[in-house]
Amino acid sequence: MATAGKMPAERDDMIGAVDIGGTKIAVGIVDNQGKVLSKMEAPTDPNRYSDSIELIAHMLRKTSQRAGSEIEGIGIGSTGPVEPMSGQFGDVDFLPGWRAKNPVNDLAQIFSVRAALENDGDAAALAEAGWGAGRNRKRLIYVTVGTGIGGGIILDGQLYRGVDGAHPEIGHHVVDPNGPECTCGFRGCWESLAAGPAMVAWIEANAPANYEHRGRLTAKAICQLARGRDRTALQAVEHEAFYLGLGVANLINLFTPDAIVLSGSVMKSADLFLERIHSLIRSGCRFVPAEKTKLTLASLGEDTNLIGAARVWHYRFGEGK
Ligand SMILES: [Zn+2]
Repeated sequence: MATAGKMPAERDDMIGAVDIGGTKIAVGIVDNQGKVLSKMEAPTDPNRYSDSIELIAHMLRKTSQRAGSEIEGIGIGSTGPVEPMSGQFGDVDFLPGWRAKNPVNDLAQIFSVRAALENDGDAAALAEAGWGAGRNRKRLIYVTVGTGIGGGIILDGQLYRGVDGAHPEIGHHVVDPNGPECTCGFRGCWESLAAGPAMVAWIEANAPANYEHRGRLTAKAICQLARGRDRTALQAVEHEAFYLGLGVANLINLFTPDAIVLSGSVMKSADLFLERIHSLIRSGCRFVPAEKTKLTLASLGEDTNLIGAARVWHYRFGEGK
């Protein structure tokens, strides 16, 4: 909230941002232009929620000290499922101790400020729409490709929410019903065929028996090998680009958005995939003006999720809301 006596134009709105992932929690102070002023991170404790809240509070105090500012509000982005409007955690597989807990209420009480929570894909989508590559794009789909595929959808400047505020799972639309089994219940989801681990799995299943790099590869290493013209790695990249392209083309056919913003660790090698993705879009999106959908890379860098957490606060409580 604005400090009493300040004019609206001088508001600082230094937001304490909390990004809760399955393996680490990042905390930082983000100004009202989306700039990270200070940050810290710690491993996520999947079982002990109370200790985790104390740790987050400690990191918020430390980072606000370092930034030399008071926290005006707290924004949280988290791996899901979470209930954005109540702030309560749902049935998050790998955070059993957090189930039904409410970090929004707990942190708001500790710091006596307003707090808000969104799924981390939605938080990052809000950040790219507000401060990043999606600025001035009314219809935007944010896609992050890393160990999984997630994202968020912004329509006419508003975060798209499903029934009861549910977060749609774009990584779990099926691109090959004969594909690998997925934990969601289907086979051949986009995530199971195009996230980083799928590249490694493809090599394990298809590389020649004597392939020297077998058994110790990551998606990043495969991309590096492909740059060195390694034949097997190039095939893996072609396979990856094909499935990335199918998913992106599906999103264009379904939504015809102004922009699709691509992010995540696999997209650090986007130059290896983009040409193929564009050619798939040209061949398969003939009934929509696909050439008008801009395919762009996320612009906020590795702090996108943290910046997104801060943007959650602005989206919920900021000017004009
Ligand atoms: Zn799935």
